[in-house]
Amino acid sequence: MNKKGDDAMILNGIGASDGLGLGNAVCIRESVLDYTGVIYAGAEAEKARLLAAVDAFCRDTERMTQKMSGQVGQHEAEILSGHIAMLADPFLRAQLEEKVEQGSVAEQAVDEVCAFYEELFSQADDELVRQRAADVRDIRNRLLGLLLHVKPIDLSALTPHSVLVAPDLTPSMTVGLRAENVAAIVTQSGGRTSHSAILARALGIPAVLGVPNLMNALSDGDRVLVNGGTGEVILNPDAAQAEAYRIWNEASIRERQSLQAYRTRPTENADGRRVSLYANIGSTAQLDEVSSVGAEGIGLFRTEFLFMERSDAPGEEEQYQAYRAVAGAMPERDVLIRTLDIGGDKDVPYLSVGKEENPFLGYRAIRYCLDRPDFFSTQLKALLRAGAEYQNVKIMLPLITSVEEIRAARALLEKCKAELQEKGQVFDRNISLGVMIETPAAVQLADQLAKEADFFSIGTNDLTQYTLAVDRGNAKVEQMYDPLHPAVLRSVRQVISAARKAQIPVGMCGEAAADPKMIPLLLAWGLDEFSVSAPSVLTVRKWISQWSDRQAGELAQRVMELVTTEEIHREIEKMF
Ligand code: PEP
Ligand code: MG
Repeated sequence: MNKKGDDAMILNGIGASDGLGLGNAVCIRESVLDYTGVIYAGAEAEKARLLAAVDAFCRDTERMTQKMSGQVGQHEAEILSGHIAMLADPFLRAQLEEKVEQGSVAEQAVDEVCAFYEELFSQADDELVRQRAADVRDIRNRLLGLLLHVKPIDLSALTPHSVLVAPDLTPSMTVGLRAENVAAIVTQSGGRTSHSAILARALGIPAVLGVPNLMNALSDGDRVLVNGGTGEVILNPDAAQAEAYRIWNEASIRERQSLQAYRTRPTENADGRRVSLYANIGSTAQLDEVSSVGAEGIGLFRTEFLFMERSDAPGEEEQYQAYRAVAGAMPERDVLIRTLDIGGDKDVPYLSVGKEENPFLGYRAIRYCLDRPDFFSTQLKALLRAGAEYQNVKIMLPLITSVEEIRAARALLEKCKAELQEKGQVFDRNISLGVMIETPAAVQLADQLAKEADFFSIGTNDLTQYTLAVDRGNAKVEQMYDPLHPAVLRSVRQVISAARKAQIPVGMCGEAAADPKMIPLLLAWGLDEFSVSAPSVLTVRKWISQWSDRQAGELAQRVMELVTTEEIHREIEKMF
């Protein structure tokens, strides 16, 4: 925290959802859930109170889940239904009952058992497991609220220009929250991949998370300016800062309006050369937004979200329905569905990947799937069937490092086709099988992989991490993580060139596809397809339209003669 001027004070956190927000702080403090005065009514009576509270909890949660899936998205709703699954755990139930049998009131049983799990999860190495501590805290507070008849926090009553300030933002708190009333979100805990960050981005609200000592620094009604890009929270912004916000806000409204003109335009450069512009999605709930921005296909459907926040894997039918929904939403368009990419930072406890020293280099993605052919076949069959109706589904394999992997996947795919055929089920016999290029090994082997794969999609998020040996989630080395590093650029150019020689389509679904500095280079090298998050589609279409082949080609040539990342940034910036 540092002081600026007389009143203005800047708090620093992690910028987790882009944009600026100016408004008045509404501080959500955890309600006092004091049960010291509650008198023990005997084991049976306490058990009955406990059960009634758990039942009410599950009913409320189901109601909230339904509201949430329409309002924010399926994945976010699944976080909530995960709470019901946690409470259904027989071991946890037994622990609660044992406590009341030993003389604890129901409230104390809940408090102590939840504290045990919160402690356990918060010490895990894996960030996603650590985030489950926030879920347990949410469950504890809601159960205690029910037992003590304390009303839960209701954010539906927030008035416009509120800046939501909270220790953490839990999914249950956000039910009923109207995004148009919330100028920004600031929380004391949480990181870039925490539930709060996912929710803020899904709602399109600027957010800064992980601000130390936040709840002591701000009070209700404080005027705050939040910068979700830099992670700054300015308390009592001065006139110049407020004016800067006003100018930014007006410009961003004008920009949003002017971008609407790109909704129905073809994606082409200044010379009228067409490229494809697809969208990345993580759940079927994002399909409406994808259509509303005029995306021309799905370039990446991250299927792991179907497997998360639940206690067992979805079966063939459930997967088929999800993939079919995506294929059906884009009947005339390509739909690239990535096979399960778990491991690394995406933990799915029931799949028992296990704890590893170096999870990003470990048992994950295609390695896990090929090691469990039965499990993998379920997904492949669901994909084959989902492609039957419109023949638009393409299967994409993550983390490929060798020709053997694609051969093994193809062999399994053929086996799945034979099994479906035997059962008389309809499926797409000619389904495309492509690979993600996201490891240095795949870059070096691109010419060989191009003979085996039907298409490439470059995953720069991982390719940058593995090429530069920089953990993509480690804040300490964040400044070294840069897709414009010359080594990454050479890799990207090499992959595009290999695909073109082999005459297979090549796209990019990593975040770099939406980077204005990367776009001219990708255009110059001949990338066929850009796949970006839905909110970026219109902006990327506009940026693409601004480059002629000559301009982009000359810039790419100059850039590739440079040897430092800094020089590359400067050279490209000269063009803006
Ligand atoms: C990538 O690595 O660039 C990618 C698109 O996949 P993910 O971010 O899901 O690892
Ligand atoms: Mg990846």
